[in-house]
Amino acid sequence: MRIKNKTKAMKLLFDLHSHTSASQDGYSTLLENITFARGRGLMAYGISEHSGGLPVAARQGAFDNLKVVPREVDGLKIYRGVETNIIDYKGGTDLDRELVLPRVDYVIASLHPPCLRPGSVTENTDALIGAMAFPEVAIIGHPDDSRYPLDYEALILAAKETGKLLELNNSSLLPRCGRQNGPENVREMLLKCAEHGARIVVNSDSHICFDVGRFDEAEALLAELDFPSDLIANVDLTRLSWVGLEAIDT
Ligand SMILES: [Zn+2]
Ligand SMILES: [Zn+2]
Repeated sequence: MRIKNKTKAMKLLFDLHSHTSASQDGYSTLLENITFARGRGLMAYGISEHSGGLPVAARQGAFDNLKVVPREVDGLKIYRGVETNIIDYKGGTDLDRELVLPRVDYVIASLHPPCLRPGSVTENTDALIGAMAFPEVAIIGHPDDSRYPLDYEALILAAKETGKLLELNNSSLLPRCGRQNGPENVREMLLKCAEHGARIVVNSDSHICFDVGRFDEAEALLAELDFPSDLIANVDLTRLSWVGLEAIDT
């Protein structure tokens, strides 16, 4: 009989999806976000500003100058990411391969209504599976929005095959979230991930410092479902390598 590692009381060590005021819908500075990341006991933290054609995208200068962002602050490892937009049902994105991709450590690919009109279940699912085929895409952001209904069985089998991480987005579990039916969709996604052995990463998708490293709702759901810890990236710093990031020795 397989003995599962319980997720209860398990510490999530990093948060790789967050926005600063460089994104037009972000309210906090990098320093404020770092302060909350450290306060919540994170060991690694990533900024992932909106990019491309999203109306709230950061200006190009915010990507040009990522080099000034320190790699570590008071023991907190800092990563430079980007949240890119999927713009067709084949999974193409509007990531700038010359001006943004070389400057970031990892890429989150997400569906956002201003960038792709919601399609059929097949179209939406194909869009996410297509995005997984791009080597630079490490994480599929918030695949939990009923505005973009999905075939979770197909999505999760593709994620397992490609090794790409599906995001458990804590913001999607909050009542204020603009995405639809997040809690129900996340639950379905997690049950199928556990069934098939597909990996996930828990992220806050914070747009204000108070939410950085806030995983309360996600942790409660993981515990309720007894989700296997061996599929959760955040519980072990060496699993930063699942996102293509240099692992941290502990
Ligand atoms: Zn997003
Ligand atoms: Zn985001």
